[in-house]
Amino acid sequence: MPSVCVVGGGLAGLAAAAALGEAGLDVDVYETRPFLGGRATSYPAPGVAEHEETIDNCQHILLGCCVNLIDFYRRLGVEGKVRFWREFTFLEPGGRASKMRATSLPAPLHFSGSFLTMPCFDWSDRLAIGRAMLNLMREAGRRDLDSITMADWLAGQRQTPRAMERFWRQVLVSAINEELDRMAASHAFQVFRLGFLAGGKWSAMGVPAVPLAELYGEAAWSRLPTVRIHTRAQVESVQGGVTLAGGERREADAVVLAVPWERAAGLAPHLGLDFTGWEHSPITGIHLWFDRAVTELPHATLLDRTMQWMFNKRDGRHIQLVVSASRGLTGMGKNEVVELAMRELTEFLPEVARARLERSHVVKEMRATFSAKPGLEARRPAAETSDGRLFLAGDWTRSGWPATMEGAVRSGYLAAEAVCRKLGRAGRFLKPDVG
Ligand SMILES: Cc1cc2nc3c(=O)[nH]c(=O)nc-3n(C[C@H](O)[C@H](O)[C@H](O)COP(=O)(O)OP(=O)(O)OC[C@H]3O[C@@H](n4cnc5c(N)ncnc54)[C@H](O)[C@@H]3O)c2cc1C
Repeated sequence: MPSVCVVGGGLAGLAAAAALGEAGLDVDVYETRPFLGGRATSYPAPGVAEHEETIDNCQHILLGCCVNLIDFYRRLGVEGKVRFWREFTFLEPGGRASKMRATSLPAPLHFSGSFLTMPCFDWSDRLAIGRAMLNLMREAGRRDLDSITMADWLAGQRQTPRAMERFWRQVLVSAINEELDRMAASHAFQVFRLGFLAGGKWSAMGVPAVPLAELYGEAAWSRLPTVRIHTRAQVESVQGGVTLAGGERREADAVVLAVPWERAAGLAPHLGLDFTGWEHSPITGIHLWFDRAVTELPHATLLDRTMQWMFNKRDGRHIQLVVSASRGLTGMGKNEVVELAMRELTEFLPEVARARLERSHVVKEMRATFSAKPGLEARRPAAETSDGRLFLAGDWTRSGWPATMEGAVRSGYLAAEAVCRKLGRAGRFLKPDVG
């Protein structure tokens, strides 16, 4: 049976391993850390006894249009552990809630009913957004969308300040993890085309109901007996096989290198990968534990403030806040971030003022994703490389999606397909985009 080594146990590497394992290949996954999941993982909460509580490094969400990620969860038998929500709450400071929910109207009109009545927008905002949406659909085929920013495109769309802040910025900064004036318009168009306009089912928001690492736990891998997982296994070279720290050598018919881009060039210098001009964009997650419930909402997007999303992790007492493209927070100390979060959360949820904060934890992921700026798309490398036995995967490779869990899984499936082609095996794994 042909053998494949996968380097990196994040979603890209795991997706490649699951696909190749299901196709009957012999697969070894090497992950340097003691646990799987890479940037989408969980660990014991600090400040309580070990095993008492597990938290995600940061809340991760998906949409119904993430068809490859959902397919990967199906391969591991965990698709039922993700709960989908069709209603989105937009909260204003002061606590007024606007609900956006998909109706049975055909796409792209499925959100129009609630959109027309959401009190966080007035008629001039709705008109401006509606007009820009029509233009977005009309201009989806434009060839220059990767060379302009979304802010450039919106500048020609006569948007109101509130539409810019509460709609375009609110949706896109979280989806792409970048500011409007730094993100390529092509990514923003894709978010709206697939996640907003394709239909209610594809817009539903998936929130894992278990800690992230549980989705790729031992039980899941027992379904794929030809896949072996090695944690605490750091790979030092991938030329002509795999060499582990300590010198152990493993030959294989193919190697999938699925590490972050800042590590890839060092592990495979012979590929001459060029990351000149690439940058990271950070995400900050803030966990707050209260002595009482402060909300009954399962989640909400928070308008006009630094905090962008709120997730109710347990009984309204454990709240997680998320800030994407969080450059403004990276220079602040932990206490300062918590103070800001508490101040803002009190404006959205009055019960916070009466509650006592028992614990808090701040996670600043400085290298959360690559910055999806204009001009980068054509420079993202494909799965096949000049080394015929070495294949690339990772959310930074040319997956057709921005740096997301879906992008990572797509890249893993594309690498697995390339491996199969090389080894003369049948293997089609990538599911086409919706719509
Ligand atoms: C805070 C945060 C919030 C996010 N929120 C969302 C969200 O809500 N929705 C969404 O879709 N996406 C989100 N993302 C993005 C998503 O997590 C990533 O796009 C995706 O997980 C990347 O997967 P990957 O496999 O490409 O890379 P990684 O997850 O980085 O995996 C690479 C793996 O390689 C391992 N490795 C590195 N070097 C070696 C070596 N020498 N030997 C062996 N192993 C090695 C690393 O330890 C790591 O486990 C978020 C990311 C962050 C950081």
